[in-house]
Amino acid sequence: MINVTKTYLPDINKYQSYIEKIFQNGWLTNNGQFVQELQQELSEYLGVNNLLLVSNGTLALQVAYKVLNLRGRVITTPFSFVATTSSLVWENLEPVFADIDPQTFNIDPMEVEKKLSAHVSGIVATHVYGNACDVEALEHLARKQGIPLVFDAAHAFGVRNDKHSILNHGDISIISFHSTKIFHTIEGGALVFKDRNVFERAKKMINFGIESPTLVSELGINCKMNEMEAAMGLCVLQDVDAIIEARKVRAEIYNQALLELDGLQFQKRNLNFLNNYSHYPVAFQNEEVLLKVMKKLNNEGIYPRRYFYPSLNTLPYFQERQEMPVSEDLTKRIVCLPLYHDLDEAVQSKIISVIKESL
Ligand SMILES: *Cc1c(COP(=O)(O)O)cnc(C)c1O
Repeated sequence: MINVTKTYLPDINKYQSYIEKIFQNGWLTNNGQFVQELQQELSEYLGVNNLLLVSNGTLALQVAYKVLNLRGRVITTPFSFVATTSSLVWENLEPVFADIDPQTFNIDPMEVEKKLSAHVSGIVATHVYGNACDVEALEHLARKQGIPLVFDAAHAFGVRNDKHSILNHGDISIISFHSTKIFHTIEGGALVFKDRNVFERAKKMINFGIESPTLVSELGINCKMNEMEAAMGLCVLQDVDAIIEARKVRAEIYNQALLELDGLQFQKRNLNFLNNYSHYPVAFQNEEVLLKVMKKLNNEGIYPRRYFYPSLNTLPYFQERQEMPVSEDLTKRIVCLPLYHDLDEAVQSKIISVIKESL
């Protein structure tokens, strides 16, 4: 069975040597040695300051909303993984959707501007498939309105321009280290903060708000990363350049075969930032073609994923329907093709020929 992605597993002996160390130390969680090492190494690799490791990307979003004191309405994108929206609802925030740009698939700053009001307390935008948002336009709007800007950078591991990481934009960027992502820690995630003081507060928040053994200084939750996860991260980080390179080679095979075909649409990339090859999205002319391609591939044991479906403004827990025509149209037509470090070229050829036949 070929899925849209496959978890990268490092050398088992290498991982085992970390696990043995954890057993010797008897220290499994609470800011242990490997969590500290991973925090340091990731900060250097990514080129960021104020990076805080947590147990997953969804809780990273929730901690971001709490520490920035978001209240009431928050402007966000309808085209992302469900966690971008559900994390807001879970924190009793009210998502106000702003439609996406039909070419970049990222939230459209002009639509954001239309939704701004005194009732809006923040903006949450996703770098969809690692494609950098129009960060300057969004930062300008947030500053003008005096509200914080959060980036869901779950897909944007390693995305940078010649000067700095995409994670340095916004007040907080969050990233996911789930097993399905380019870089992973089994389950895990991180927040990157612009402001050192906000970072220090969040550090307490992820451990029940505890400041010292006799002082609880804030409301907190428990979302710490553990040593087994950090050890996995330290192993995978050593191989991550090779993982990204292997994905690039495979993405270019798809590009060669598919980019010039009539009837397919591709994401317009922000060329100011490097691609990390986190996904290989293809949009068809309509849902009928998409379903035909999916069915043929499923018959061959190949399972692309409809990232992202449905459009998040249509989730069943919203009473009032906000219409998002661009996102609703795209979600019906788009699919991510299998892309991972050791995807077989014969499988790619099969996928390419099924798509060609179906157009
Ligand atoms: C994966 C993902 C998340 C959630 O991350 P977890 O670590 O699985 O909780 C959030 N947002 C986006 C865009 C994602 O792709």
